[in-house]
Amino acid sequence: MASADVAIIGGGISGAAAGLGLVEEGAGKVLIFDEQLPSQRLSRGNFGLTWFMCKGANNPVYAKWCRMATRQWPEFAHRLEKETGYNLELEWTGGAIQAFGDEQYQSYAQSIETLKKVCAEEGLDYPVRMLSREEFADMVPDIKVGNDVTGVMYTADQGHINPLKLLAAVRCAYQQKGGLYYGAHNVAEIVPEEGGAITVKTNKGSYSCGKVVIAAGHGSQRLLTPLRQKLHIYPQRGQLMVSERYKRVLKIPVLCTRQTPDGTFIIGFSTEDFAHDCRVTLSGMKNLASNAIRLFPILAKLNWVRSWGAIRVMTPDGAPIYSRLPEHSNISMLALHSAVSLAPLTTSTIAPWILGKSEASQIAHFSNERFNV
Ligand SMILES: Cc1cc2nc3c(=O)[nH]c(=O)nc-3n(C[C@H](O)[C@H](O)[C@H](O)COP(=O)(O)OP(=O)(O)OC[C@H]3O[C@@H](n4cnc5c(N)ncnc54)[C@H](O)[C@@H]3O)c2cc1C
Repeated sequence: MASADVAIIGGGISGAAAGLGLVEEGAGKVLIFDEQLPSQRLSRGNFGLTWFMCKGANNPVYAKWCRMATRQWPEFAHRLEKETGYNLELEWTGGAIQAFGDEQYQSYAQSIETLKKVCAEEGLDYPVRMLSREEFADMVPDIKVGNDVTGVMYTADQGHINPLKLLAAVRCAYQQKGGLYYGAHNVAEIVPEEGGAITVKTNKGSYSCGKVVIAAGHGSQRLLTPLRQKLHIYPQRGQLMVSERYKRVLKIPVLCTRQTPDGTFIIGFSTEDFAHDCRVTLSGMKNLASNAIRLFPILAKLNWVRSWGAIRVMTPDGAPIYSRLPEHSNISMLALHSAVSLAPLTTSTIAPWILGKSEASQIAHFSNERFNV
């Protein structure tokens, strides 16, 4: 039987970023198995924000975790670009979330104050502030801001990327450093053996592995059930729409609307819980469009050329799951929404944790066990 020191199941952004960290940590022979299910193209179908603002409003540890990840983003991107030659199209221009009406504006302002205090306890800054409608309009002088916008929550310290190029670059860096990527390998079963090794059975043969990382998104539960483990995730559909190209008028991404360097507008930020299929719906698209047009009226004039849905891996509290199996500490599970924003931490902090080399203080907080009540 072929063997590996670490096998990762799932080659989306979580599995690939973990793989990169593992090879950099000298984990030995690392394999990624990825069956590339068309219904599980989360890492190829997301909005591309590298973002911390607004995350963890009721979960301070998660808020700090997101802030830590975002601080690592520019250096992470720079390093990937240098090593692989991919242009991730990172624009570190800041980001905004629009408030429609005074009530929403005030509630954003209040949440900023809370999160500033939470982050300060850890010596982390929380550089977010409210801008009036006029201040925001001055920041985006080439596009008219809708009359319904009261103002925005804004930080200069986040941005957006091309998620497809990110995935390609992370996989490329991983392979350049010796990691092996086995596409079209469907993992059917994970079997812990006596003596501690784990057999990973794929459609193309079995592998004896020292450690296993399950990062298979919604495919993870199928593998965990025979190991008597319930992964606390549920499907949440998000829909996105893509416009024809237009001259570059918006350089700051807003939570539900961004313009890419080639001029394309992308709108989206819908959330539909417990949606098991990734189709778009007319009502979903209408909602996205009307929101985006309230924000920037020019969007009503563009042709919209593509749309898609993708199924988020959502946890009950929205924060990630990083956990080891109670009976098999050499099997770890990663399940996370915001895996793009958190990618630098998956590489720098989760990989050493998988190897048992170091344990960041926050990780225990993100255990799957927190939902076993
Ligand atoms: C509409 C939308 C917008 C989003 N916007 C953002 C954003 O702006 N910023 C952000 O940070 N996040 C965003 N996200 C979330 C982000 O896309 C996900 O957190 C991330 O892609 C999850 O990556 P993953 O690697 O964990 O899972 P996946 O990308 O689902 O990867 C899992 C992989 O495992 C494979 N697999 C499954 N079962 C098996 C098996 N048995 N054997 C082998 N392989 C298997 C799957 O085929 C898949 O390739 C968004 C999500 C959606 C839906």
